[in-house]
Amino acid sequence: MTALYEVSKLSVDLLASGNGLCAQLIQRHLTINILQDIDISIAAGEILGVVGESGSGKTTLARSMLGLQPVSGGTMCFDGREVASRTDFSNLRRNSAFMFQDPVASLSPRMKVGALVVEPLVIQRRPMANAAEKAKELLERVGLPASIAGRFPHELSGGQARRVCVARALALNPRLVIADEPTAGLDVSVQGEILNLMTGLKKTLGLAFMIITHNLAMVRHVSDRIAILYLGRLMETGPTREVFARPAHPYTRSLIASEPQPDPRKRRVDLAIKGEIPSVLARPPGCAFHTRCTLAQQRCKEESPLPQSLPGGRTVRCHFPEQQPSTT
Ligand code: SF4
Repeated sequence: MTALYEVSKLSVDLLASGNGLCAQLIQRHLTINILQDIDISIAAGEILGVVGESGSGKTTLARSMLGLQPVSGGTMCFDGREVASRTDFSNLRRNSAFMFQDPVASLSPRMKVGALVVEPLVIQRRPMANAAEKAKELLERVGLPASIAGRFPHELSGGQARRVCVARALALNPRLVIADEPTAGLDVSVQGEILNLMTGLKKTLGLAFMIITHNLAMVRHVSDRIAILYLGRLMETGPTREVFARPAHPYTRSLIASEPQPDPRKRRVDLAIKGEIPSVLARPPGCAFHTRCTLAQQRCKEESPLPQSLPGGRTVRCHFPEQQPSTT
């Protein structure tokens, strides 16, 4: 599949300033590596799920890809053209949309739904023959009745607010939508409706979605490909079905083992992830995952693994990747 958006060797460093014991005398400046060597591609009509715990760098990755976060290295190409200058990023943002995690907080409480869904067109000064008609069209596209245009955000249910956010995202006819935890805080049945909506838009409009989430079960249901992020490094990528059938990285195996099971006896407690993700300020040397990995060996503590290709279109960053089928 031809990539719509391709990111190669993306790195993001942040400069952190901290005061020492005596503020006037000692001032330290630290460079914190947030993301390193990220290779990601998304094709038109494809859903990519980026999974990681809090602190893994998911949001920084999304912001970098939209030009909202300066990058330290790497290249980004959208529709075959490198994105580097401010003009390139402006063009990219015209062709993409970002869906925030908290739908109600991302909507102005003083505006009615009808005005909210066409607001991106107003901001971009796009011509609109009839704003009310356009709002109706966008609302219908996400399965909402036109009558909802007269409501304020606080009068919406969680599912309706999420659909309004999707309608807003569609206003500029984007080719790529980056969605941050699109089902957070929703009931399971409403989660399913939102995911079905996104899958439908992918098929009917050829939209590409990048979903960033900690919810592995959700991406398993909806995404075509998956990328597992840990402490700013991509640990495993590949087609969703392949990754779940044969998780090669110990972290992926642990995440899958930690998923809730209808039958608790089937849960692999021995593989379930333990402990907290370390801070980026105290990144472990060698493999970033070695402090939580049950398979860690001396080499893991000293040498950072490089990405290696596996059958089935997968890539894994581990010295000792597993290749047997999952037992969960
Ligand atoms: Fe575990 Fe070592 Fe693989 Fe890292 S490189 S995931 S520590 S086995």
